Amino acid sequence: MKDTAGVSSPPRVRVMLPLPLAGAYDYRAPAELDLQPGDVVTVPLGQRHLFGVVWDPAPPAAEAAEPVAEHRLKPVLARLPVPPMSPSLRRFIDWVAAYTLAPPGAVLRMALSAPAAFEPASPQAGWTLAPPGNSQPRLTPERRRVLALLQPGEVRAGGALAEAAQVSVGVLRGMAENGLLRPALLPHHSRFRRPDPDHPGPALAGPQAAAAAALVAKVAARQFAVTLLTGVTGSGKTEVYFDAVAEALRQGRQALVLLPEIALSAQWLDRFRARFGVAPALWHSELTSKTRRDTWRAVADGEVAVLVGARSALFLPYPDLGLVVVDEEHETAFKQEEGVIYHARDMAVVRARFAAASCVLVSATPSLESLTNAETGRYAALDLPTRHGGASLPQVVPVDLRKTPPERGRFLAPPLVAAVTATLARGEQAMLFLNRRGYAPLTLCRACGHRMRCPNCTAWLVEHRAQRRLTCHHCGHTEAPPAACPECGAEHSLTAVGPGVERVQEEAAQLWPDARRLVMASDNIPGPAAAAAAAQAISNREVDLIIGTQIVAKGWHFPHLTLVGVVDADLGLAGGDLRAAERTVQLLHQVAGRAGRAEAPGQVLLQSFSPEHPVMQALIANDLDAFMAEEAAMRKPGHWPPFGRLAALIVSAEDERAADRVARDLGLAAPGGDGIQVLGPAPAPLALLRGRHRRRLLLKCRRDVAVQPLLREWLARVEIPGNVRLQVDVDPVSFL
Ligand code: ADP
Ligand code: ZN
Repeated sequence: MKDTAGVSSPPRVRVMLPLPLAGAYDYRAPAELDLQPGDVVTVPLGQRHLFGVVWDPAPPAAEAAEPVAEHRLKPVLARLPVPPMSPSLRRFIDWVAAYTLAPPGAVLRMALSAPAAFEPASPQAGWTLAPPGNSQPRLTPERRRVLALLQPGEVRAGGALAEAAQVSVGVLRGMAENGLLRPALLPHHSRFRRPDPDHPGPALAGPQAAAAAALVAKVAARQFAVTLLTGVTGSGKTEVYFDAVAEALRQGRQALVLLPEIALSAQWLDRFRARFGVAPALWHSELTSKTRRDTWRAVADGEVAVLVGARSALFLPYPDLGLVVVDEEHETAFKQEEGVIYHARDMAVVRARFAAASCVLVSATPSLESLTNAETGRYAALDLPTRHGGASLPQVVPVDLRKTPPERGRFLAPPLVAAVTATLARGEQAMLFLNRRGYAPLTLCRACGHRMRCPNCTAWLVEHRAQRRLTCHHCGHTEAPPAACPECGAEHSLTAVGPGVERVQEEAAQLWPDARRLVMASDNIPGPAAAAAAAQAISNREVDLIIGTQIVAKGWHFPHLTLVGVVDADLGLAGGDLRAAERTVQLLHQVAGRAGRAEAPGQVLLQSFSPEHPVMQALIANDLDAFMAEEAAMRKPGHWPPFGRLAALIVSAEDERAADRVARDLGLAAPGGDGIQVLGPAPAPLALLRGRHRRRLLLKCRRDVAVQPLLREWLARVEIPGNVRLQVDVDPVSFL
């Protein structure tokens, strides 16, 4: 390379920093570091030293920008002793950034989420036998026990050695001083044991075996492919994709399984252990920093063969990813709504493509997006039509709340009460499902009609009676219930309106005082251990009646549960966004699928004010295919996803007028043209959230319109002052 003076310039490299910058920065590359793209390095930035990754040379088009002058280039300080970031991960990061319009450094940050892993591991010291010397130290019985435990050349950790010999650590130190032992480094032991693909698992036959063979063939082909694996709840989808995981292991490649909620996956982990002999490595936000560091490092070193994680696990540095499974692919929990806004299911497909890996999307109630991709042949499709072991699907029956309403002030209608009573009398388990935490969603003054609202959000305060609090589920604001109405001052006039799970539990306690009841909501099941304990108690039949929010809907297998009562089947339809009906069908079908998973047949009762609604009819007829076909027919003409593209702009500011100004400017600068439409600006349904005023615009395009260039040009036309935040949500799931 020549600069303008004709002198050859020292080599420079582009380094991507884990910061929300527009792109990579140029640095001088000292020859002795021999830097290659992917190397993890430290570089100076201002007064700081930062980790970064040597990025690929800029594509020629981007070269137009004026390069930083030679004399202003700062040098790369060091190359860190970690495996370089693979080209496939670097391309994935670039791709996610371009697709979501996030700064690439913000995406990189997710891939460097365990910076402690870049420090060389502090080698662990232990003790080994010292070579025989001239002195003859005194041998107490304690010392003899220690010596008897060590083979020549063997190194053991001090704590473990002392414990095995039943001596204090001081004894070991004394022995070292006397020339009997010497310190030595412990050999590196991975805490991650390799899952055994040939560990005996359940025998698959019939459609299960055929589906497993098809998935195994895809993994063995070592090529990118996407398969949608569907099948009713309990049909054995998990066992089937475990065979694909086994094949990835045999191929010597890594497998990644994404689950929507790791905290609720105790039973899944048990099944994995049963199938592969060891637990998989885990990745989620609640790992300790030490486990995070060890896991990141072991993934990078290829020691972790199977990793199970939340969506952020997509950004781990697998050296050779051969399989990506997305279980419960329809779950909205896969959408990250903060920071880099991305859909992990969609990005899993992209990750697999860059890694030449097989991708399997799994669901009993697949999203319309994935179904459509299967229909057009972009994805292969496999289906398991029946429950394993001949268990029948539960019968779904409506309870028409207009005809058989609950008693005044109650929420369980007579047919549901009777069904629960009969189930408990047979010694079977029952479940009441209501997707609402707390005691009551609304507190109202009977005297003046005042509603208790959050001061920071467009939301009612939810009563949590056990804690004697009114709480906002959006921002966490909480206050004690006032003795008198804050508006009119009337005393004892505040009333709870509507039920949450706590209130259903109160009613259940009156109806079935002798039943052992368990409430399962995030308030009392705060983490993985509590969820596992609850699942265990249910499996052990220590519980008769389960009352829960959506956390009871997830993948659980409770063989003695035969009745599910849905307290308010209409609940999810109220919001009325694009996917409200689809999501309600999926959630209620998942809940229903908890019933009758063993010999005893299951029954599901849906309390609804409109049993004639297509959602209820689809559940009653157990015909989700027809329902999804109707959904597709409804969305197609208007080019709604997946037959068109959406991107949302969310403007927010503490100053309402500032938010309005930017929203208006965006509206005026909106793109137009054939197949392009902009809706809004309009106040968001959550017009106030955590004290910020929010406005939304929605870009809707035909499928053949490239959304990102349109968005980039649009945003470049509008100035966003520092006190206003603009979020871009490509393929929005939430419209709040
Ligand atoms: P899904 O994922 O489709 O809901 P699972 O894979 O969870 O279904 O299977 C449901 C239950 O049936 C699990 O307890 C599983 O271990 C068991 N099961 C599935 N297939 C087999 C099989 N071929 N042999 C033995 N048990 C099986
Ligand atoms: Zn709030």
